[in-house]
Amino acid sequence: MADSTGFLKYERELPPRRPVDIRILDWKDVYLSRANGEDAVFPVEAVRKQAARCMDCGIPFCHHACPVANLIPEWNDLARRDDWHDAIERLHSTNNFPEFTGKLCPAPCEGSCVLNLQESPVTIKQIEWEIIDRAFEEGWVQPQTPAQRSGKKVAVIGSGPAGLAAAQQLTRAGHDVTVYERADRIGGLLRYGIPEFKMEKAVLDRRLDQMRAEGTRFVTGVEVGGSKDDDLSAEQLRAEYDAVVLSGGATIGRDLLAPGRELKGIHLAMEYLPFGNRQALGELDDPPINARGKHVVIIGGGDTGADCLGTAHRQGAASVTQLEIMPAPPDRRDPAGNPWPTYPMIMRVSSAHEEGGERLYSVNTERFLGDDAGNLRALLLHEVERVDGRFQKIEGTEREVPADLVFLAMGFTGAQREGLIDALGVEVDGRGNVARDAQFMSTVPGVFVAGDMGRGQSLIVWAIAEGRAAAAAADTWLTGESALPRPVTPTAVALR
Ligand SMILES: Cc1cc2nc3c(=O)[nH]c(=O)nc-3n(C[C@H](O)[C@H](O)[C@H](O)COP(=O)(O)OP(=O)(O)OC[C@H]3O[C@@H](n4cnc5c(N)ncnc54)[C@H](O)[C@@H]3O)c2cc1C
Ligand code: SF4
Repeated sequence: MADSTGFLKYERELPPRRPVDIRILDWKDVYLSRANGEDAVFPVEAVRKQAARCMDCGIPFCHHACPVANLIPEWNDLARRDDWHDAIERLHSTNNFPEFTGKLCPAPCEGSCVLNLQESPVTIKQIEWEIIDRAFEEGWVQPQTPAQRSGKKVAVIGSGPAGLAAAQQLTRAGHDVTVYERADRIGGLLRYGIPEFKMEKAVLDRRLDQMRAEGTRFVTGVEVGGSKDDDLSAEQLRAEYDAVVLSGGATIGRDLLAPGRELKGIHLAMEYLPFGNRQALGELDDPPINARGKHVVIIGGGDTGADCLGTAHRQGAASVTQLEIMPAPPDRRDPAGNPWPTYPMIMRVSSAHEEGGERLYSVNTERFLGDDAGNLRALLLHEVERVDGRFQKIEGTEREVPADLVFLAMGFTGAQREGLIDALGVEVDGRGNVARDAQFMSTVPGVFVAGDMGRGQSLIVWAIAEGRAAAAAADTWLTGESALPRPVTPTAVALR
């Protein structure tokens, strides 16, 4: 039973981020953390008070909005009671990686929390992080090895959150699981997309240690369906494995083919961010794409753009401007068009936005302007307005923005076909994603699809949910039954 008056006694409160002028000098997590020994700033008592704000609602909208179906009121109450051990048991029962969502999720649960009717939801995501971080510290996150082996071999292609969730579930179900990753390290976008200041790679590595100890095998530097000598062909894959889970992500970035696109200095965001991550880890002193001393323009106002922004500031950019074609969102949700408990479409200020840069809304890129040597020097933009649902230029609003570097962060158009998809002969749907049936199976029997590769560009929490559900489907296909949970269907969508 929750504290029935907690939400009346305590205000919503989050731990402070480190001061901007200090944190942009390094790549570490923007938040103070217990690991930094600074828990006096937001002690466990403060977290427990936040957990006490949960009302244990009869219909917990937080739970319904969560793709992995986290048992939020239950672990909120356990955190309130200081029972962190049971809290992590409850949290792990629905989420393989609460540390990824606790750090990175945009928290649809908080958008739907009943207390968000008064715009002060329970700090669900922070409590989730505290529970799992505490569990690692206490040594409660131990390998869970299967009691029985099935003798079946499963290959998981791609090591982002979808592949990792599928691999952990299938390993625990007793299968012999190998994860193939074409990059040199495991993690997908958690490794080379999302910057260190949002989630330190050590957080990923400690989970991979657990997975290795459970028996999951990881192979890096091998592209399945790739053309290098040591890559694995589709034929080898099918011959060696009883089932396959494809979780290769939606890696094709949306391009902007405006005049001048060929100039030197224009890059897709995912050409830039992996170098920033390597620089953060001390592997590169001077990355090949470096914002140091440069005027940077980021096209796209979402998370990927914000990650470019924070990276450029840490590299010492001279200026950073982020462009968005949509109008600036309102500060408060519009109860008519965007009512509770749907996800609030409001102005968000990420840690990167606190650190500086200019955000321009309702603007479109007209062309890129270069110098005689073919280098980018500026971007010509104009303002737009919506007329009959289409963006139209407002004449006379053209202006130049200085730009030595432009990062295109306008989303992703789907999975890469060349290589893996073509070689396996799986069908792709009209949106560029690998087609699948209600059991997450592609058009090739025994080949399942999870995460962004099947859903299209999405979120970590959806990738984990899909990895878990696809694992249950693959387990059933291999053995005729499965005790693994299926939190989502392939066509499930957010509350709307
Ligand atoms: C810059 C950026 C920041 C983001 N920030 C957030 C955030 O803060 N919160 C959030 O919830 N979501 C965020 N997202 C979205 C989130 O990262 C993705 O939805 C999620 O990672 C998808 O997981 P996945 O496992 O499907 O694929 P991915 O994480 O994309 O992993 C796919 C992996 O498959 C590998 N692969 C592909 N083909 C092959 C092959 N043939 N052989 C071997 N390996 C292969 C790739 O190299 C890659 O490592 C962000 C996305 C980006 C781009
Ligand atoms: S909706 Fe909010 S208050 Fe209600 S159970 Fe969920 S977290 Fe607690």
